[in-house]
Amino acid sequence: MGKLDGKVALITGIGSGIGRAAAQLFCEAGATVFGVDHNSDLGASVAEDLESWGDRFHFHPADLSQERDCIQVVEECQRLCDGRRPVGDPRIDILYNNAGISIIAPFTETDSATLTKIMAVNFQAVYLLCQQVLPIMQAQGSGVIINTASELAIVAQPLYAAYCASKGAVLSLTRALALEYAQDNIRINALCPGPVDTPMLQQEFEQAESPTQARSAGIETIPIGRLGYPEEIAQVALYLASDAPALLHGASLVVDGGKTIL
Ligand code: NAD
Repeated sequence: MGKLDGKVALITGIGSGIGRAAAQLFCEAGATVFGVDHNSDLGASVAEDLESWGDRFHFHPADLSQERDCIQVVEECQRLCDGRRPVGDPRIDILYNNAGISIIAPFTETDSATLTKIMAVNFQAVYLLCQQVLPIMQAQGSGVIINTASELAIVAQPLYAAYCASKGAVLSLTRALALEYAQDNIRINALCPGPVDTPMLQQEFEQAESPTQARSAGIETIPIGRLGYPEEIAQVALYLASDAPALLHGASLVVDGGKTIL
């Protein structure tokens, strides 16, 4: 018996890092996973890794910075699931908004095109996907939404103004939706990872003069003395997606090795 037996999960950003680990973990837990990423090569390689799960994993390429793609993703997921469910019962049980990008730049050098891009991927896609999926969950009488914010939605870091703002918006949206849908048996929570060893974080270190020093300095800010592993965030997402945390609603779950309490 898996924690997600028979559930359909739509997970974004499955090509790499946390999303890739989550796609694997959710499949193992019994879910049918509809994985989305704008990088088709990465998506194909995840599909290859998860081949042993047969038709429990499906990859759908989409650029979530585009409204049209956000709408198509949900339609496609429903169409796919329709064929495997009793007629008229195309469910989406879990929406895990994980895709994101980071931008490091001085505030005055972060132009409006950059701001538009980061808001489109980190916030607007979350907004639009929730907007598409919530009526489906309402109609089926249940659901779980996990929105990825960040510890940087709660604490700040220089050179991350646009990123912090985008993740703060995700947190506020999550709380607002949690209240609006509190009576609908749909659990809506935000996941706030601290520094996790993924290609995104590695790229950030590589922008520094000395990536090795930047990595060590980053680790020094974490009380447990190491970066998180993608699987450790995916495990918390799995817990949130399962039936176990029935009372967790509108929460911001910080998973950061103690960084924000320092
Ligand atoms: P990652 O870069 O390893 O993976 C992100 C995935 O999202 C990639 O596969 C990428 O192709 C995909 N993606 C990016 N833009 C997209 C778009 N427009 N459409 C569709 N897919 C797109 O990053 P990660 O570290 O695994 O981050 C996952 C989430 O966790 C992000 O929302 C990130 O902001 C958040 N987060 C990460 C850290 C960290 O330290 N790694 C910390 C806090 C929050």
